[in-house]
Amino acid sequence: MADALVLIDGNNFYASCEQALDPALLGKPVVVLSNNDGCVVSRSAEARHLGIPMGAPAFQLRNLLQRQAVVVRSSNYALYGDMSQRLMSSLELWLAGLEVYSIDEAFGRLPRPRHGDLQGWGRELRARIHRDLGLPIAIGIAPSKVLAKLANRIAKGEVEHAGVFDLGSSQDPANWLAGVAIEDVWGIGRKLSRWCRLRGVATALQLRDMPSGELKAKAGVVGLRLQQELRGISCLPLEEGPSAKRETCVSRSFSQPIEAEAPLREAVASYVVRAAEQLRRQRQRAGRLTVFARTSPFSSGFYSNAASLALPVASNDTGVLLAAALQLVPALYRPHKRFQKAGVLLQELQPDSQLQHHLLVPLPAEQQQRRTALMQCVDQLNRRYGSGTVRWAACGLKPTWIMRRDHLSRAATTRLSDVPTVWAL
Ligand SMILES: [Mg+2]
Repeated sequence: MADALVLIDGNNFYASCEQALDPALLGKPVVVLSNNDGCVVSRSAEARHLGIPMGAPAFQLRNLLQRQAVVVRSSNYALYGDMSQRLMSSLELWLAGLEVYSIDEAFGRLPRPRHGDLQGWGRELRARIHRDLGLPIAIGIAPSKVLAKLANRIAKGEVEHAGVFDLGSSQDPANWLAGVAIEDVWGIGRKLSRWCRLRGVATALQLRDMPSGELKAKAGVVGLRLQQELRGISCLPLEEGPSAKRETCVSRSFSQPIEAEAPLREAVASYVVRAAEQLRRQRQRAGRLTVFARTSPFSSGFYSNAASLALPVASNDTGVLLAAALQLVPALYRPHKRFQKAGVLLQELQPDSQLQHHLLVPLPAEQQQRRTALMQCVDQLNRRYGSGTVRWAACGLKPTWIMRRDHLSRAATTRLSDVPTVWAL
């Protein structure tokens, strides 16, 4: 029998990570705020039941949050990134192939057993992840990716499925497809779904059964693929192995506007340091670097600018990238502008195993090895003792612009000093 495709998705992922690391939060309403404690980006089931809307600005909710004793957390991406990695490496053991789709979502593949039903397998996996990581997940199983996505929705939406639904062993898949609105079909896009609506095709079932010729005339092979997937014929392959990134971007809004050039330089320097770390983690070098800065688009005299530079020799050395980026800052800076956001983009990324040398910029092997060893050492120290243990002076010592994170939880899984303490009596 053909392989089954599985979509696994963490429920309320950020809020669930907070609850997993702090048992005192279990059963309580928890919300996680976006950068600078701006908007609600994740809600625990309890917070959702209180009717706290997703995406709402925190300041508008202040009274409601207080009245209902909602626990508020700033987003702690070090924690969520690490929990995500743990989740993905656990899932790998249960599946024949895994495609990490986002921080809390992965597609997987596994052979369907002869008796057909994978419901039990799903329940076991779900219990195991909950036991090992404390994270609730939903599992959708089906013959294709598009159907797995739908099965996942059903797993989450219908209480009796308890987070697991195998559409592939369902007696009546048409019945389920009839209950899915056309807009909720994965990958359909707004234009195609509107076209379908106008033609009276309002559900996933109707899309599956409409004449292929009409669909092909409108949406080409993309539309046909979608239809085949809905019919249970897998056309979208699992994309295993990380696809090499082509760009890396680090950008942040400031907690308060920056008007002087020195703090703008510090901010850009800090983002370069971050981006260079990411680059080394991805085992890549950058051939081009762009820095950008802008004022608030909501205030008058909006200003936005970017400057770019090709590096003579591609690099992931923080020192080299810093020198290049800081040289570009004067081109961005304008006096009396209140900068609200800046960022750095590393481009023309290439694997760090192959380095194209430059005829006019000699880089002796010995010097290159010394720099690589230095970067490795800095990365190790910062990983072990917390980010910022070894810092670059260009980033400044007391930044005033740094992102607001007033309700940050501990980096309980990545920083030694933040590991939870258990008191045994
Ligand atoms: Mg999710």
